Amino acid sequence: MEKNTTIKNNILELVGQTPIVKLHKIIQDLPGNFYAKIEAFNPGHSAKDRIALHIVENAEKKGILKPGHTIVETTSGNTGFSLAMISLVKGYKCILAVSDKSSQDKIDILKVMGAEVHVCPANVPADDPRSYYETAKRIQQETPNSIYINQYFNELNIEAHYATTGPEIWEQTQGKVTHVVVASGTGGTISGVGRYLKEQNSDIQILGVDAVGSVIKKYHETRKFDKREIAPYKIEGLGKNLIPTSTDFDAVDVYEKVTDKDAALEARKLVKAEGIFAGYTSGAVIQATKQYAAKNYFTDDSFVVMIFPDHGCRYINKIYSDEWMKEQGFI
Ligand code: PMP
Repeated sequence: MEKNTTIKNNILELVGQTPIVKLHKIIQDLPGNFYAKIEAFNPGHSAKDRIALHIVENAEKKGILKPGHTIVETTSGNTGFSLAMISLVKGYKCILAVSDKSSQDKIDILKVMGAEVHVCPANVPADDPRSYYETAKRIQQETPNSIYINQYFNELNIEAHYATTGPEIWEQTQGKVTHVVVASGTGGTISGVGRYLKEQNSDIQILGVDAVGSVIKKYHETRKFDKREIAPYKIEGLGKNLIPTSTDFDAVDVYEKVTDKDAALEARKLVKAEGIFAGYTSGAVIQATKQYAAKNYFTDDSFVVMIFPDHGCRYINKIYSDEWMKEQGFI
């Protein structure tokens, strides 16, 4: 692959240009051809490297971020890892407010990566002072020479995927892509990819993935925030209990919601079927693809790209633990 034919100056030069791989067994007996864009090939093992680097470099260009300064963010783990990695290479301090729903592995890894981690309760309203949003805001206000990445409310999040993930899918598929199935958390991936691909070919369908317990799908359909949709769930990084402005709902055609159980079982099946060890939301994307197939979204000619956001290693004590699966009643 082109990106590895020369010596890189540092690890950050490996962000992006992730591979697309044909899937053979996980989606069987369904019309269409299925491919996975595997974001775990980023140096921080997730799609979040793209937005973290883009937002940091934007702040550097504006002159508001200089070596020795502090980067603050709310994160379910992946953005935190990317920011911590970038901070180590570029000489910043990194402070992260993390939800207590994040796996212990993810939290431990952030500490290994040199970040200062504040663990906050997941099941409180977003405007509660204990929430990870409010905690991060407070830390940023109290820390001189700091910037708040604010991935849920930052247009640069969309821009990063518009500039990289979208064009990569278009070029790698030589314009043959007909559908993209994308998990929606901040919405940066789905919005950037959707905007870019629809500009190339307005027939391309952007199929969103949301979680049962999240408000995103209902908002897309009604443009109303319905609090009654909110319920606790286990999948990290997917769906939300608020409406992020970094989601461009016009770039998305439709959403499907998936359950914790179905997403976990599909991620486990993916390992055995394809030898691809991916994260919890990758299982959610597969499950949603099956639900879309059941609703006749695909024909034999469909060229479906599923984005797998991160690596399975971060979930070894969660969906890849038989104990945990039994505790949840999933197996
Ligand atoms: N999957 C995982 C594991 C994530 O960490 C995230 C980011 N929250 C997503 C999916 C969703 O990506 P986005 O924030 O771009 O919508």
